[in-house]
Amino acid sequence: MAGETCRNHPDRKSVAMCQKYSHGYCLDCLENDPHCSDPDIYCKFREQCLVHFHYKERKREAARAASA
Ligand SMILES: [Zn+2]
Repeated sequence: MAGETCRNHPDRKSVAMCQKYSHGYCLDCLENDPHCSDPDIYCKFREQCLVHFHYKERKREAARAASA
């Protein structure tokens, strides 16, 4: 079923899923390269989206690192 395995690693089980596109992400992808497919357009799932949450966290960390 869509979303049960990682979008980038079909052999891995997903730990988070984009509910809009049914893309699954494994822990590696979530921690190292979380990626919302459409970060700039409205998504009704965003508030509860784990992928976007990690994506935002990464962006904030990168901004902090750049200004340090
Ligand atoms: Zn993965």
